[in-house]
Amino acid sequence: MLIKARGVPIWIQCLEALLRLLPQDHRLIPDIRRNLKYRQKGYKGEKSSDYYASLLDQKEFLILHDLTLVHKKLRFQSDTLILTARFFLIIEIKSLEGELFFNNETGQLTVSRHETVTGADNPLIQALNHCIQLRGWLEDRKINEIPIEHLAIISNPRAVIRCSNYETARHVGTDKSLPLKVMELSKRYKKELLTEKELKKIAKAFKKAHSPQPINIMGFYKLKHDELLKYIACTNCGFRPMVRVRGLWHCVNCFANSKAAHVEVITDHLLVKGNRITNRECRDLLGITSVKLANKLLTGMNLHKEGNTRSRSYSLKLQ
Ligand SMILES: [Zn+2]
Repeated sequence: MLIKARGVPIWIQCLEALLRLLPQDHRLIPDIRRNLKYRQKGYKGEKSSDYYASLLDQKEFLILHDLTLVHKKLRFQSDTLILTARFFLIIEIKSLEGELFFNNETGQLTVSRHETVTGADNPLIQALNHCIQLRGWLEDRKINEIPIEHLAIISNPRAVIRCSNYETARHVGTDKSLPLKVMELSKRYKKELLTEKELKKIAKAFKKAHSPQPINIMGFYKLKHDELLKYIACTNCGFRPMVRVRGLWHCVNCFANSKAAHVEVITDHLLVKGNRITNRECRDLLGITSVKLANKLLTGMNLHKEGNTRSRSYSLKLQ
């Protein structure tokens, strides 16, 4: 049963927002496009794995995709978490190309491609680390008994996978082999340790504890705030700025009108600038002077509100 679906990753949302907020000839555009393409490939692999995970028995397996938890002030994010009454399973999904070799002795993953061999982030080690953090998270909630398994899924169909021994190979698979791998791991655990009610309660607690964080993308690309474009671009011809005329955003270039053109600009700024905007910043961003209007526009956007009237700030409800 699907408990938590996967949304568009925050990285992809931020990179797309940044592409809209930077001038088209900005020096970083090619870099950002490359990064976006890489992230989109990963997301595609995750969604493909999600399809195969959905083939598992709906009653027995409770599934949470893209879950971020906090343990001892550290965030950890698992690509997929599967809960059963007998064991829990953490799945890391990677879209890697080339010939992959998982070395159990060293814990290293090497990738051979075009006659070069490089090391890569080993999803098995990531999954194992997440198991330790998840164990701690569960112990804090007095859930001690349940075994936690791990699995690495390589979603790229062209990758060739080799493992140093059989035991490692049991924990590595492709997206298509996901249901089989889960069933194989599942055979090790016969005893039901949780009732259906307890399991559902834990699944609910996981979903509630999901706490994604905005990315400091300005810091990542060492961008300054004055490099970002301000104002609303015309939704029809791209001309900047659209101006407020009789309750609508109006383009003086092509005379197009829009009711909600501010939504994308405000959302984009929240994504790239630390997920916080005040009334004053909103007026500056949209090129308007009315406090009342900025308030109306922000309040109409289903944002999270914080603080009192004067110092109030707004942020996106991250999923
Ligand atoms: Zn226009």
